Amino acid sequence: MKGILESAANHVGRLFSRDTSNSGKRVLVNDILSIQVISAALVGALAIASLYWGGQWVLQDNYSRWALQWTEELNELGAPLFLTDDSEALIRLESYVERYPEIDRVGYYSEDGTALFSVDNVDEAAPLANMSESMLEDAAAVVGTRKPYLMRNDILDPRRFEILAPVWTESIPDDGLFAFDPSSARQESQTQLVGFISIHLDFVMFHNRLLSNIRGAVLILMGLLIVFGLYGRRILQRALASISSLQQPIKELAKGNLDVKFEPAEHREISDIVEALETTASALGERNAELLELANHDSLTGLFNRRRFIEEFKKEIDEVAGNGHSSALFFIDLDQFKYVNDACGHPAGDRLICKVADELKRSIRQDDTIARFGGDEFAILMRRIDVDGARSTAEKILTNMRCMGHVEEDHVFHVHCSIGVTILNGDDLRHDELINQADIACREAKLAGRNRMHVYEHSEDTVQRIAADVGWMNRLREALDENQFELRFQPINRIDTGETTHHEALIRLRSEDGKMILPEAFLPAAVRFGLMSEIDFWVIRNAAKAYAEHACRERRLKFAINLSANAFENDNLTTFVEQSFKEFDVEASDIILEITESLAVRRPIHVDGKIDALRKLGCHFALDDFGTGYSSFSYLQKMHFDYIKIDGAFVQDILNNPVDQKMIKLIAEIGREAGMQTIAEYVQDAESLVLLGELGVDMAQGHFVGRPTKKPLVKSTPLTLSSRRAQRSSS
Ligand code: GH3
Ligand code: MG
Repeated sequence: MKGILESAANHVGRLFSRDTSNSGKRVLVNDILSIQVISAALVGALAIASLYWGGQWVLQDNYSRWALQWTEELNELGAPLFLTDDSEALIRLESYVERYPEIDRVGYYSEDGTALFSVDNVDEAAPLANMSESMLEDAAAVVGTRKPYLMRNDILDPRRFEILAPVWTESIPDDGLFAFDPSSARQESQTQLVGFISIHLDFVMFHNRLLSNIRGAVLILMGLLIVFGLYGRRILQRALASISSLQQPIKELAKGNLDVKFEPAEHREISDIVEALETTASALGERNAELLELANHDSLTGLFNRRRFIEEFKKEIDEVAGNGHSSALFFIDLDQFKYVNDACGHPAGDRLICKVADELKRSIRQDDTIARFGGDEFAILMRRIDVDGARSTAEKILTNMRCMGHVEEDHVFHVHCSIGVTILNGDDLRHDELINQADIACREAKLAGRNRMHVYEHSEDTVQRIAADVGWMNRLREALDENQFELRFQPINRIDTGETTHHEALIRLRSEDGKMILPEAFLPAAVRFGLMSEIDFWVIRNAAKAYAEHACRERRLKFAINLSANAFENDNLTTFVEQSFKEFDVEASDIILEITESLAVRRPIHVDGKIDALRKLGCHFALDDFGTGYSSFSYLQKMHFDYIKIDGAFVQDILNNPVDQKMIKLIAEIGREAGMQTIAEYVQDAESLVLLGELGVDMAQGHFVGRPTKKPLVKSTPLTLSSRRAQRSSS
């Protein structure tokens, strides 16, 4: 049934279908209408069929009743005709017959079945024939019965009847009103057959009328179906047109055009769809904006990211090539930024990066472009600027950064930066070559001591040096990242008693073949690459760790740690030292920080403050390598040291060199006067040790006293001054 309905719907749908634009595809409006029309037609057909059969059944049921009714009436009309030959009765009969068109004929027969006359309702009716013997017999037999007539259907057409009824008179004996005898009333009444009357009925007309009515109903129904079909089609088309009108905007939406406009819809359902589509479009718009933001911007600072910056940079390269003006590219890397992370944690580092980003934005012009390249690196494209302008902007950035303080957990951080500048002046250089130039210039600025700018200049020297250093830099970087440095501890003993007062922590690096690399081999490269302060910090932290491992109540340890000038450039030095000591429970008074003579002499302002702060923590200070460089005693007065370490150059040949002896004696005396203890380095033998003691030096360090070891061993000097004196006096 479903299949038949569907295929019927297809056919009707095709009839309705006018739209062939979307070849082969069914049109929804036609499908809906087809289903409706077919359903309505089926319902109509069922209704008509039931009307027909119902009407038929009602008619059929009524035919016999009507027939009986007429029989009785005609019987009444017929009796006077037979009995009195009443001509008026005949006229009444004729008018009666005329009134009922279904009566074809009324025929009269005498009691012996002879045809008397007939009243016909049809033209050219056949003459009335006599009754047959059997008819006569049958008709006479029903006289006085409860069903006093014979009814016969036409064999060919059930809507035609012939009713044959006897006409009789009935009398009861002694029928006087006054001489009524109840006993005689029970006697059989007397009937007398007077003739027969037959009626031919033809209900075909009724039937035809029913059919023509049904035909009319069908026509009206079809008319209504067509009218409603067409009207429904219009309504549906209008409703679906709103859906169809969504096609184009949705296609636009799919293409990524989010500014599409949806026509307001008339119907609620479609209006809901339109609303949902508008919500989708605006959600897509927001999502797009987010993706665009992510694709172009650095998530931490909101500045352009490297990708977007390069886009802008390439455009500017073309502009410069076309217009002939010059622009500048700055490559900025923060100095020693790692220590901010180490000292205060990554989130604090992030906050500082954001602050730097804001500061940099403030330092440039509106139409310059700034980006975060990643990590602590930023790039700035300064449009239409010459080399002098670029220099002064870079200086301004450096000054602003120097002034910028960042407070984090009660600590004020200062972060400096190194800036590499390269000028775009229409040379045929690609964007990556220019970025590389700015990067090289930035590295030059770092090598020159950081917190400065450098304008890129092409020279073979620069290129070669950078290439040669790259190997060391990678090795040191790896050693720092992978924690591959090691510490050795060399004892420093009192010369008079031979006891170990403290150990100097010395850094070592193991080569790939397992050999130890001495610091002289890698520290210069570390300085050039700006890794020195990072290495110093590594030593501070690991010495503190070793202190925690080896010190105990019975055995107090003291460590001497070297600090380079680069360590003092890092604003986080004091914080880092403090935190490391706190972390490993180090007594600051057990730490002696050794600084070089060159640093002590130059005494940049920033060093003073840091030395004071470290002193406040409790650290002691030693002046390292004294005597080689400036050989000026004046600054010993300005800056108090707890120890003076006499450079090994004076000690190496002390036995044979009276000048060195005098020098050492002088240093020892001044030290004593100034309240500083003196330490002689490179003590290789007993004689030197004894002589140093006699010259007034307090402590000694060197292979004779003790070699650097993995653990800080406490070992008395084999030969002490007192034992020597004892030896001398006994001899
Ligand atoms: P230099 O003066 O040589 O530049 O020393 P540096 O410590 O700044 O070292 P470098 O520039 O090589 O490394 C940058 C460091 O910045 C490495 C990493 O610890 C840190 N860093 C990188 N990305 C992020 C970041 O997104 N957030 C934070 N907090 N730190 C970062
Ligand atoms: Mg950096």
